[in-house]
Amino acid sequence: MTDKDEVLELYKKYVMTTYAPELLLVRGRDAKVTDADGKDYLDFLSGISVLNVGHGHPKVVHAIARQANKLMHVSNLYFNEMQPRLAKALSDRSLGGKCFFCNSGAEANEGMFKLARLWGSEQGKYEIVTMRNSFHGRTLATMTATGQTKYQKGFAPLMPGFVYADFNDLNSVRNVVADKTVAVLVEAVQGEGGIIPATQEFMTGLRALCDEKKILMLCDEVQCGMGRTGRWFGYQHYGVQPDAFSLAKALGGGFPIGALVAAPKLSEVFKPGNHASTFGGNPLACAAALAAIEAMEEEEMLHNAVHMGKIFMDGLSSLSAKYGAIEQVRGLGLMVGLVCNKPTKPLERIMREKGLIALATGESVMRFLPPLNVKEVQVRKALQLMDESMAVWADSQKK
Ligand SMILES: *Cc1c(COP(=O)(O)O)cnc(C)c1O
Repeated sequence: MTDKDEVLELYKKYVMTTYAPELLLVRGRDAKVTDADGKDYLDFLSGISVLNVGHGHPKVVHAIARQANKLMHVSNLYFNEMQPRLAKALSDRSLGGKCFFCNSGAEANEGMFKLARLWGSEQGKYEIVTMRNSFHGRTLATMTATGQTKYQKGFAPLMPGFVYADFNDLNSVRNVVADKTVAVLVEAVQGEGGIIPATQEFMTGLRALCDEKKILMLCDEVQCGMGRTGRWFGYQHYGVQPDAFSLAKALGGGFPIGALVAAPKLSEVFKPGNHASTFGGNPLACAAALAAIEAMEEEEMLHNAVHMGKIFMDGLSSLSAKYGAIEQVRGLGLMVGLVCNKPTKPLERIMREKGLIALATGESVMRFLPPLNVKEVQVRKALQLMDESMAVWADSQKK
C-alpha cells in the first residue's frame, strides 16, 4: 500500500509548485486508473492525450521491456535500428518526407521554428504567425508562440519574431503576414484553448495564403495528432498538407518522445550540426512509439475513436436539454469539449468524486481525451457519471 501522507509531504517539501495535483494515482489498466486508497476512476483524460492506447497496453509494455533489456541508448553519434523504422512509419502516414526526433512537444516546436528560420534565412524571413488562444509549450520560444498572455506574464522579454492572428479568421492572418514572415503555425484543433476545431475554410485558406506568399504552413499536432481526432493527424480532416508538423504526447504510447515531421521540401534543410538532442529518437522511446502505432492499427483505434466520439458527443448533447449550464458540445473524434456558461473547475472535482477523470480547460470548458480504445460500455458509464455530476453541480449552485 502506498503511504499517501508520506508522498504528499515529500512532494510539498521537495517538488516545485508548478502544478496543483489533488489525486495520487498508483495503477492503470486500459481506461481505468486507481488511486492510493484503492478507488477506481474512468480515465477520460489519458494523461492529457498521452495514453491514446490506454494504460499498460501489453504491446507497448513488452516493447519497452524488450528494448530496455537489449539497448536503451546509444546517442545520435551512432545508428540505432528503431529510429529510422519510426521515421518511416510517421512519414508513410503523413507527408512522405523526413523526421527529427526529440523528447517533448515544446522541443518539437522549437525544432520546427529553427527549421523554418533556417529555410527563410537567405531571404531574411524569420517571423512566425501564431494564433491567439493557441498552446505550443512552455519554453521561451514556445511560450511566446502560445497566443495567451496568461502564460507569458512575468517572463519578459519574450522571444522576438512572433506575431499573432485570430484563429479561424483568415483576414486577420493576412493582415499580419509581411515580407519578414516565414511561416504560419496552427493547431487543427486547439486543445488547451478549449477544444476548438479549425474551420474547413480557414485551413484551406491558410494553405492557399501560404502558397501565395511563399511561406510555410506549420501544424502543431502535439495534442490532436496520433489518432486523437479519428485520423492519424488532425490536418488530415481538411484535405490540406502542412509543410511540417510537430508531435509528442501520444507518440510514445506513454513513453516520452517528440518528433518534427517535414515534407520533402523541408527534408534537407537541416545539415549536420544545425540541430540536435541527446535523448532524441533513442531506441527505447522509438520502440515504444512503434509498438503504439502497431497497436492502434491492429486494433483499429482510429475507427473506434470516430465511433466512440460520436456516441460520446451525442450523449453529452442530449444532457444539454436537461442542464442549462451546457452551452455547446464540440470536438473531433475523441477530442471533446463540453462548453459551459460558468467556470468548470468545480465540476471537475464533482466528476472525480463520482469516479470520472477529465480536465477543466480555459474558463468554462470541460476537456475529454479518453483512450482511443475506450469501449462503448465505458462511454455509456462516463455519460451516466456526467449526468449525475451535472445534477450535483446544478444543485450546488442553488444552495
Ligand atoms: C501539450 C502541448 C504542447 C507542449 O508539449 P510538452 O510535451 O508539454 O512540451 C505543445 N503543443 C500542444 C498543442 C500541446 O497540447
